[in-house]
Amino acid sequence: MINTSLIKEKENLVLDFLYFWNRPIRAGDLCSRLKFKHSTLNSILKRLEGQKLLVWEKYKEIELTEKGKESAKHVSNHHFIIERFLKESLNCSDDFAHEEALHLAGTFSCELIEEICKKLSISHNDLHLHFCDKRKYFPD
Ligand SMILES: [Zn+2]
Ligand SMILES: [Zn+2]
Repeated sequence: MINTSLIKEKENLVLDFLYFWNRPIRAGDLCSRLKFKHSTLNSILKRLEGQKLLVWEKYKEIELTEKGKESAKHVSNHHFIIERFLKESLNCSDDFAHEEALHLAGTFSCELIEEICKKLSISHNDLHLHFCDKRKYFPD
């Protein structure tokens, strides 16, 4: 049986990363940065391509479409909001909060994110980039 929520989580991880990365990247580089197996990444990329979220020609670089950038921005924002919540409300360390938030971002519903936003008195729609030290986690 295919675990669809796990696939969704991985798709969102790729989108979140590509939003951070903000430029084309080769599949091999993406693979080593996300620590995915090549076969796993390939199927995730094909699914995202099927949803018209990115363009990827074999042996060429992967690039988000405009639609993909919008989805990726939303997923990343969930990550930032969860990260801040883990740090502020649960006193998690920066590294732990970031790692957990990366994985949780795609699995939390917008309703749940809204609840966290209420608690933190922030808006779901504002981009909360500064809650995550992205330079630390995705160095050039
Ligand atoms: Zn983060
Ligand atoms: Zn949302």
